[in-house]
Parts: sequence; C-alpha cells; structure tokens
Amino acid sequence: MSLRKRISLRNTLAFRLTLWYAGIFTLSSCVAFLLFYTLITSVIQDRTDQELLSQVNRFSTLDAAEGIEAVKNAAVIEAQAAGVKKVFFRLLALNGQAFSSSNMAYWKDIDIDDAAIKELLRGHGHAFETITIPNRREKVRVLYAFLSPIIILQVGQAMESYSRFLDAFKGIFITTMTFLIVLAAGVGWFMARRAVSGVEAVTRTAQKISGGNLEERVPVKGRGDEIDQLATTFNQMLNRVQALLTEIKEMSDNIAHDLRSPITRIRGIAEVTLTTGKSLNEYEAMAASTVEECDRLLDMINTMLMISKTEAGVDGLVQEEIDLTSLVRKACELFEPAAEDKGVILRCDVSSGSRLTGDTRMIQRMLSNLLDNAIKYTPPEGSVSLSLSENGREIAVSIKDTGVGLSPTELPRIFERFYRCDQSRSQAGIGLGLSLARAVARAHGGEITVMSAPNQGSTFTVTLPKSLPPRS
Ligand code: ADP
Repeated sequence: MSLRKRISLRNTLAFRLTLWYAGIFTLSSCVAFLLFYTLITSVIQDRTDQELLSQVNRFSTLDAAEGIEAVKNAAVIEAQAAGVKKVFFRLLALNGQAFSSSNMAYWKDIDIDDAAIKELLRGHGHAFETITIPNRREKVRVLYAFLSPIIILQVGQAMESYSRFLDAFKGIFITTMTFLIVLAAGVGWFMARRAVSGVEAVTRTAQKISGGNLEERVPVKGRGDEIDQLATTFNQMLNRVQALLTEIKEMSDNIAHDLRSPITRIRGIAEVTLTTGKSLNEYEAMAASTVEECDRLLDMINTMLMISKTEAGVDGLVQEEIDLTSLVRKACELFEPAAEDKGVILRCDVSSGSRLTGDTRMIQRMLSNLLDNAIKYTPPEGSVSLSLSENGREIAVSIKDTGVGLSPTELPRIFERFYRCDQSRSQAGIGLGLSLARAVARAHGGEITVMSAPNQGSTFTVTLPKSLPPRS
C-alpha cells in the first residue's frame, strides 16, 4: 500500500497547504476587488454628480438671463436631445409642487422627495439621492438644487450605462478569479507536493529501515534546501546508528568469544578431573584453576561495568585534590619489578608540584593500564619513559615506549572495547584496558591521544584539566 493511500487526502500536509494557499489567494483577491469596485463606483458617482451640478448651473444662468420660460423650453429640448430615457428635468415651487418638466413618461415612478426639499430649505445648497426604479433594477441619480430663490430644479440621470459597466466588470472579475483560483490551487498543489515529496522520501526510508534494511539512505537532491538538510541529517544519523550497531555487534561477538574461552577451560579441567582424577590433590588443583578462571571472568565483567559507569561522566567520580606527580611516581614504583623482570628500562621523569582535582582511584587505574601496556608491548632491552608537562589549565602525562608500535589501520580502533591487535593476541589481556583509560580521561574532561608507528614504539598522552568540568 502506498504511503499516500494510507494517509487520507484531507490529512495530508500538501492538501492543507494547498487549501491555505488557495484560501489566502481568494481572500486577498476579493479584498482587492472590493477596494477597486468601491473606488470605481465612487469615481463614477462623482462624475455623474459633477454633470448634474453643471446642468443646474447652466439652467440657473439661463434663468437669470432669459427667464423661466427659456429654462422650461431648454429642459424639454435637452432631455429630448440626451434621450428621454437618460435625463429628466422637473421645475418645482418651494412647496415641492412641480409646475413644469421634460417628458416624464419614462420617469413617472420617480416622486418628489419631501425630505430632500426640506434639506434644501434648511439651507443646504443641493441634495443628491440615488433611486432604484421598481421592476427595472435601474439606478437613477437625482439632484435637487435652487435654480433661483423661489424655484427648485430636480434633475435626474440614468446610471444604466455605468451599471452595465460595473456588471461587466463584476462578470470579468468572477470569471478571471475562478480561473485564477483553480490555477492557484493547481500550482499550490504542485508546489506543496514538491515540497513534501522530500519528507515522504525520509518517511519511506524510515519505513524500510524499520522493516530491517539499515543500508537504505534518503536520496539527497543537491538543491541545498531544508529538505536536503533534513535528508543529510537523517542519513548522518543512520550512519551513526549503523556504526553503533556494528560496534555493539562486534562487542557482543567479542564478549561471547572472551567468555567462551575461560568457561571452556573450566569445563575441560572439571571433565578431565572427573574422568581421570583420583587424588584429593587433583581436585584441589581443579578448584584452584576454577577460582583463577572465575577471577579473570569477574575482572572482565567488573571492568566492563566500570567503563559503563565512567562513561556516564563526571557525576560518577569522587572529587578530591590529587598530587599527580606522586601518583605517577607510585605507579612507576609499582611497575618497576615487572619492567625489570622483562628487561625493560623504566624511566620516570617527573618534577613535583602538579596537582589536579579528580578521582584518585580511577586515575591510578588509567595510569596502570597505560604503563602495563607499554611494558607488555615493549620487547626486552626496550625502554618506557613517563613525563609530566603542565600549562595554565591542563596537565599532560606522556607514556612513551620503544615497543612494537601500531599500524595506521589499528590506531583508530585500539580504544574500542575488546579490540586487540593481531600481534598482541599472544599476550595476556582482554582488550578493555584502553577503553577504560579513555573513559576515565573523558570523565575528567580530558582526552587520550596516541602517536605510533610499527616497530618504532608508541606515545600515549593523557591531557587532564586541573579542575573537573561542572556536574550535569
Ligand atoms: P589489552 O588487554 O589487549 O592490552 P587494551 O585495551 O589495553 O587491551 O589495548 C588494546 C590493544 O591496543 C592491545 O591489544 C594492543 O594491541 C594495542 N596496544 C595498547 N597499548 C599498546 C602499546 N603501548 N604498544 C603497542 N600496542 C598497544
């Protein structure tokens, strides 16, 4: 079933984006149309009003020059000339009684508005009104104005042509808008689909991964947009998860392997003793071997637990003032006999006074692991030297040996849990020493670095800050 089918269309982001896009487009277009329509209507009305006022002025001048009879004639002639369905004139006395008019056959429904007459008499120069003639849907703009102090002129002009223009404008707008809204929804849908297609690709990949295929990656289009950034981040996260899973798998393989050997040995000794053992001494030897193997197993399990606890960070540490110089000297003294036995020269080149805050036991353990390795992986007649250096905020402990060294392929892996280089498999060890050392250094806010070349020795340098990082 495709992803799109599973999510109902109404719930899709693309659909909602399209709806918003089309909605906002329609709303803003309607607002623009209303503003434009109002503007056009008011311009048209202004123009009509101006025409009516100029008509009144002309008639008023005629009245002053030639008298009311000339006005009456002019009204009839002008209405005829403009079209009896377009304009009408009516002459009124101050009481609102009409005493003359142009041809009113078409305008018989238009009454004389008492309110407008009263407004004129109250001193207003003129009064406008817009009348809709019943059954005709036609609008007429009517002006009442004084022609002389005793005569009022009522002049009306049909707004039919303007109405037609506005109706045509409305029609064109509605047609264009319908087309544009459909187009906008289409374009919006296309753009939204394009935008979310990247998100869908991420979802599809995540589904394939949850189905068990960790090799899948989201295609990056290379456009550098947000979807590309999401895809890149998602792929990086997958790389990290895959690396972690591989590491966990290798680690569990290693644990299984490292547990199997001592258990096989314990079982072997027990079996041999049971089948061939006759004396108490043989049973005692079996018990002693079992204890020894169990101690080794316990040591391994404890070290693993310690690494996990230390990796939790500074919160798991005891905080105390440490004289690092004397700690390094004590570690050298402790390993002096082992070095001597192996014929390795151990030098401890440290001057006093280097102090820091940290967990004494953990730092002791870290130094022991590093010294133990240096002696273990240095052949007889080689040398191991320890040195301390200090700058303002940090102390560095270097353990340099002239031992077997490490190849560039081994170097990045030696801090992994249970990792052991092929050439060291003959030596005792479980591959946890460096993991613990690095966990201790990091928990103190420091780091371990290594420089090494095959057969030329290695230098492990631990850098520790003088004060611990703040607790989380
Ligand atoms: P191990 O118990 O095997 O010593 P570590 O975690 O201490 O485990 O070390 C991991 C691997 O790193 C070792 O198996 C060894 O191959 C390599 N290694 C560590 N220290 C040194 C060193 N000073 N010189 C050469 N190889 C080293």
